[in-house]
Amino acid sequence: MKKTIVITGGSSGIGAAAARLAAARGWNVAFNYASNDEGASRTVADIEAMGGKVVAVRGDVAIESDVVGLFDAAAREFGPIHGLVNNAGTLGPKMTLADMEIDRMRRVIDVNVLGCYLAAREAVRRMSTRRGGAGGSIVNISSAAARLGAAGDRVDYAGTKGATESFTIGLGREVAAEGIRVNAIRPGIIETEFHARGGEPNRAADLGAGTPMGRAGTSDEVAEAVVWLLSDQSSYVTGAILDVTGGR
Ligand code: NAP
Repeated sequence: MKKTIVITGGSSGIGAAAARLAAARGWNVAFNYASNDEGASRTVADIEAMGGKVVAVRGDVAIESDVVGLFDAAAREFGPIHGLVNNAGTLGPKMTLADMEIDRMRRVIDVNVLGCYLAAREAVRRMSTRRGGAGGSIVNISSAAARLGAAGDRVDYAGTKGATESFTIGLGREVAAEGIRVNAIRPGIIETEFHARGGEPNRAADLGAGTPMGRAGTSDEVAEAVVWLLSDQSSYVTGAILDVTGGR
């Protein structure tokens, strides 16, 4: 039987790359996205072109019913699920904390923290061997910002990724005896749409040049780590946080 994963934010960047690579390695994929129908269709077409099975659902990870709906769609289409990539994330424009409005802070926390918790909760409810599930693997996408702090840049965003990491460690211990592994990846500067969304389209090229490897990373390079953590090849790894940062 083919295994199934749920990915949040599969219409572009790291989520789309993880969806394509996981499908290529034999997983059925169910993913959601916020609004980019064109990007979602591209991910679906790429997976179907390689003979993979995929379902895409539009929805907001910060809305509980949308998250439950994504998992229900995955179950309807493919049956039991075996993995989650908690990837959807957002950020505001670069600024200091003193200049931030509450709406921006609330949105970053709702999407990056609450969205991650809600999707993980749904995955645990369905994968836990104590609840009749088959066990599985959760991969949370953090950021190097969690340990760098992003001073003068986006401390609100960095804080949400710190939360992602504490959550990874705690949940990993909480569900280790229920057949579920929980790990996080800390991408560094990766070439995706993310930087343009934050108002800095050249950020990856500009900051990538200053990293130890002298370049930004690609979504495909992060996807390799994601799929390894999803797979049985990482069967004794849980509560771990893996840097994919080119040494940054
Ligand atoms: P991206 O290309 O902008 O992709 C973000 C994805 O998340 C898109 O599919 C987007 O959907 C989806 N999304 C955003 N808000 C959502 C919401 N509320 N509900 C559902 N889906 C939502 O960015 P990326 O670089 O691949 O980012 C993926 C993750 O990597 C994020 O958690 C980010 O914090 C993390 N990260 C990125 C970098 C980097 O340098 N790029 C570095 C460290 C960590 P739409 O396209 O429909 O909006």
